[in-house]
Order: sequence, then C-alpha cells, then structure tokens
Amino acid sequence: MHAWQGPPCPQILTDTANSVAKTHIKSRTQLPQTDNQGFFGIRLESIGGLGAHVAGQILAQAGVLRMGLNGANFSSYGSEKKGSPVKAYVRFCAAEQEVRTSSPVDRPHLVAVFHEGLVRTEPVLWGLLPEGAIIVNSLRSPSQVWDGLGRPAAKVGAVNALAIAVEESSRVNTVMLGAVARASGFIKPEAVKEVIQATLGERYPQLLASNLRAFDRGFQELALEDFSHAAAAVPQNYARHAPPFGYLDAPLGGAVMNPGNTALKDLSVSRNGFLPAFHRERCVDCALCDLVCPDFCFVWAVERKGDGVEAIRLKGIDYQFCKGCLKCIDACPTLALSTEREEEGYAERHSVPLFPHLQGFSQNGERHHH
Ligand code: SF4
Ligand code: SF4
Repeated sequence: MHAWQGPPCPQILTDTANSVAKTHIKSRTQLPQTDNQGFFGIRLESIGGLGAHVAGQILAQAGVLRMGLNGANFSSYGSEKKGSPVKAYVRFCAAEQEVRTSSPVDRPHLVAVFHEGLVRTEPVLWGLLPEGAIIVNSLRSPSQVWDGLGRPAAKVGAVNALAIAVEESSRVNTVMLGAVARASGFIKPEAVKEVIQATLGERYPQLLASNLRAFDRGFQELALEDFSHAAAAVPQNYARHAPPFGYLDAPLGGAVMNPGNTALKDLSVSRNGFLPAFHRERCVDCALCDLVCPDFCFVWAVERKGDGVEAIRLKGIDYQFCKGCLKCIDACPTLALSTEREEEGYAERHSVPLFPHLQGFSQNGERHHH
C-alpha cells in the first residue's frame, strides 16, 4: 500500500483518506535495516484482550500516514476470546516499494511480547533476525529476561508495562507501543502519539491524557541491552505448525484428538498479570470460591481434625488452570483469597496439583524427559 500513490490497505482506508494522509507527512524516514524483500518486520505476541491488534494498526498508521513509509498490518488469532494467543504483524518498506505480500512476518526485526507467560507457551523468538530485538512486558531486568529466553543472539528489552498501565489508568498496549517505538530505532514517538490522538482522542477524549503518559513512560522506561556477542543460542527460523487434520481428513464427530487435553491444558497464560493468593490461616472451608470458579482450580482433601472427625479442607489452587478472572476473591467471605500481582515463579511455587499423577506430562500427552 502506498500512502500517497497507490491504494491504501483497508484498515487505514477506513480511517484516513489518501489525500488527507499526504498532508500529515512531514519528512520521509529511513529504515535502519530491511530483509531481502526490503521490509522491516514487527511481530507483536499477545493474548486476546491486551490490545495488540489495535497497537499494530496504530503503528502502521504512524509509519504510513505520518512518516513517509509504505507498509501494512494485520493480525491472526484463533477463537475471539480473552486469553487466546494473538499475533499482530506490521511491515514497513520504502515509500516507492509496493507491498505485495500479506503473509505473517516470519523473519521479524523486532518482536514485542505483551504477556510474559507467552515465553513459556509460544515460540516467541522464532525467526527473529540475528540483528533483531525482542522486548518483553516484564518486571525483570533485560539480562534475566535474556536468561529465560535461552540466551539468544539479540537485543533484549524489558519494560514493566502492566505496572505503568495500572499507575496511569491506561492499557498494556499503549505502554508497549512506546517501548516498540524506542526499540525500533526509527518509529517517531510524535507520529504514534498523533495517531493515538486522532483515534482514541476522537472516541474517548477523557482517556487521552493518561494514554499519552503511558506511551511516554513505555518509551522512556524500556531497558534495552545488546547480547549479540554473549549469546549461546541463535533464534531458529520460524516454522508454522500444520494442523494434524484438515477438513478433508478430520475424524467424524468432531472428536478432540488430544488425550487428556482438559487435564493437561495450561490456561495460566490467560492471566493478565494478577492471580488469587490463598491464605490458609483465614480459610473456613466454606467452598464459595469453588462455586464461582469457572475452571475448577481449587484442590480439596479429606483430613482428620484434632477431634478425630473427618472434614474436607481446601488445600490450595492449581494455577495451571487458573485464568485470573478473580471471581473467587469477590466470593470469599473471610479474605482468605487476595489479588496479587503475578511475579515470575509464584504460580509454580504455590500451585497445588489437581492431578498429581499427570505431572510431568506435556499437553500432547508425552512424558517430559529431563
Ligand atoms: S481467579 Fe479464582 S475463580 Fe478465576 S479461574 Fe482462578 S481460581 Fe478460578
Ligand atoms: S471462599 Fe474463602 S473461606 Fe471459603 S473455602 Fe474459599 S478460600 Fe476458604
């Protein structure tokens, strides 16, 4: 899509006409790196509800309508619900170049991970170019994030996007937009802020100031380090998984082919940064939490009390199945459940397994080998 010559991509066309776009362009921007097709690629790794799709749109509009680049964006997601993995893709190229691809960005220069839990479940590093950068919404330092990623040859950045979003009454995507602009080395913060102003400011003017502050803080508070010389691993080329069955060879009856999938499925990545903490000393075993929990996360056991009478007692929460809806906290009458900001490793340390005999199996039913 060309900003001022050819037809713009549909998302942008709906927002701003071509002739209007031309008036916003102040100067043309040089891309710091391009792949062998002439593109600078960005992949946003997120879950539904964090606003990655909108962030991709805003980035594309800033680059194309306000920075004199050409480009396109689109997102791919499975079921449209909160918590499902989402990938948003943005590519930029020189203004004169046509965009003749709409495939996913498999060899990105920049990956932004909106939810740190995705590092465990999604191949976030795949295809990252050796000169590329990955930035993660995390409480941790860049070197801790780098360790957790397997020490890839890349620039690694960390920004505490959730804390900033909470403090500024904004959303994670606005903070991550600031961090992406900074890590890219060429996306102008003023261009992105103008798009935020034109879109959000139009619809929700009362939210504009807090979102612009969140953007600025994301830009300023991103900590970025270059590990390309100390790296132990080179990111692998991206390989898309082909589904085992298509519409021609799927078994009749819509059977779920993954044995034990309900018990093995890991929902923890759906949490938005908060989880319920359990305080056994305040619990009266009333089970109101269990009544409201949509995912049967509470683990119970029969225990003999001091007087010899058997009673059912709440042992804790299996965080593998907890999606962080926090309904249980509202239900608890004794404050035995509280909302906590999720820190790396908390869930693993405090989880009480609902199916202890299945521990050590992966989601496809294979046993882990260490
Ligand atoms: S937050 Fe509470 S109610 Fe919601 S899934 Fe987790 S344990 Fe269940
Ligand atoms: S609702 Fe609160 S007091 Fe009742 S069983 Fe659950 S944690 Fe314990």
